[in-house]
Amino acid sequence: MTSAQDSQRFDLVVAGCGIAGLSAAVSAAEGGLKVAVLERATEAERGGQSRYTEAYLRMKSLEAVSDDFETHLAENGSGALDPDLIERSADPAEQGLVRALSMADPNFIDTLAHQAPQAVAWLRGMGARFDFLPTQFLTKAQPRLLPVGGGEALVQVLAARAEALGVRFHYQTTAQSLKLDERGAVVGLRARQPQGFVDFQGPVVLACGGFQGNAEMMARYVGPRSVHLRPICKGGYYNRGEGIRMALDIGAAACGEFGSYHAEPVDPRSGVSEPSVFIFPYGILVNKNGRRFTDEAPGTVDAHYESVTRRIYEQPGGMAWVVLDARHLRIPNYKLALRTDKPPVVADSIAALAQAISVPADELALTVAQYNAACSGQDWRALEADGLATQGLQPPKSNWACPIAQAPFHAYPIMSANVFTFGGLKVDPQARVLHADGGAIPGLYAAGETVGLYYGTYTGATSVLKAMVFGRLAGLHACPARP
Ligand SMILES: Cc1cc2nc3c(=O)[nH]c(=O)nc-3n(C[C@H](O)[C@H](O)[C@H](O)COP(=O)(O)OP(=O)(O)OC[C@H]3O[C@@H](n4cnc5c(N)ncnc54)[C@H](O)[C@@H]3O)c2cc1C
Repeated sequence: MTSAQDSQRFDLVVAGCGIAGLSAAVSAAEGGLKVAVLERATEAERGGQSRYTEAYLRMKSLEAVSDDFETHLAENGSGALDPDLIERSADPAEQGLVRALSMADPNFIDTLAHQAPQAVAWLRGMGARFDFLPTQFLTKAQPRLLPVGGGEALVQVLAARAEALGVRFHYQTTAQSLKLDERGAVVGLRARQPQGFVDFQGPVVLACGGFQGNAEMMARYVGPRSVHLRPICKGGYYNRGEGIRMALDIGAAACGEFGSYHAEPVDPRSGVSEPSVFIFPYGILVNKNGRRFTDEAPGTVDAHYESVTRRIYEQPGGMAWVVLDARHLRIPNYKLALRTDKPPVVADSIAALAQAISVPADELALTVAQYNAACSGQDWRALEADGLATQGLQPPKSNWACPIAQAPFHAYPIMSANVFTFGGLKVDPQARVLHADGGAIPGLYAAGETVGLYYGTYTGATSVLKAMVFGRLAGLHACPARP
């Protein structure tokens, strides 16, 4: 007779049903393993963040990542680490404590860059389609390849393949803690279901996202001001950091900047997924006091929106208004830069606009007058970084500096959304979780947001690639015949 315990014995237990977890499950099942996927959500809600993302991929073709891919990741790959240690970590022979330091491993970055085309080809083999489709960035410095149908299409393709291969899905099942044997190897995990606890036995892949849905961890790591942040979509609320916490509890190494997150400008009034407002380079940003506080347009919007959004987060109440004049309505396709479903606040004068958005009218009038006086009067070239900068204004505006003078005037509120958190676990190029003392923890893998990588500035359009590449590698490595 089979006991309940035996029936939960698998060759691989995957926590999380987003792109990372599904990639791990499919690659392991393709290698003949008996796989379980544990998912906190119901089947209808499965897919976490992955089902809401458009999934831009930093690739210049199906075969190659962008030219700046590895450089950008490496330049944002640590905090204030000793350069000797960074150099030592690039040596594949270096195995000890240095491997486990909080910094992006150069070998990990190399693997991500070189395995990305293979992961895309693998997904294409399952029926996913990719193309260079329009994005929300009216100006951009780097290419973005997109899956047709976004992340939801990838979740559907992967889940269908997993089901066809016999992967067992356990919904409303929240992974909570890891089980170890005497050697310190991970041999299973304990999960919580509505009816009680269930133990799953087997090696584990942690692919259950970051901690953006956990207010306590956000306050602990990102700080008390994180009360002004919210996940960019409803899928983010399912990611509450258990995967990271349960591995740290058994001594796993940490990586990525725990006090930071990927910032994107969104409309706080909206409840739709990713209600972004990328139109701000064509106007001025003012805080609740009616004052400018940052260069709205240091360069192309794809490269600079995160740093501008971080300045918005620092303002009173964590928000600002973008003030535009009628000129922006003539930019071809300007609506691509506005995903919010809420209309702008519109007024015929700056004084009326100030009243409508509850900003001191005299301050806003002064701010607009000073800005207008610093503009040259030339017309902008909206779809390229045109270098049309203010003169003698602090802070400056470096591109698209045209006077705000043509009624009607428009304003949108903007806050910083938390797209995902940066802090997570450190893994090696096979997706094995490292111990803080060095060496891989036997039986434990991680992929996707659960893996930490980024410091300072996010290398845009790499998070989905990270999920698919290291999810797939975890599944491959877990197959004894295919190390
Ligand atoms: C709106 C939006 C736009 C984005 N745009 C881009 C982009 O253009 N390009 C890009 O590269 N990245 C983008 N990102 C980020 C990227 O989509 C995600 O980082 C990536 O999809 C994460 O995949 P994942 O599998 O690690 O996590 P998720 O897809 O979030 O999956 C995690 C899963 O784990 C489940 N779970 C959580 N905790 C537990 C638990 N304890 N037990 C069991 N299950 C659990 C969750 O329910 C969820 O299904 C965007 C994200 C969003 C939300």
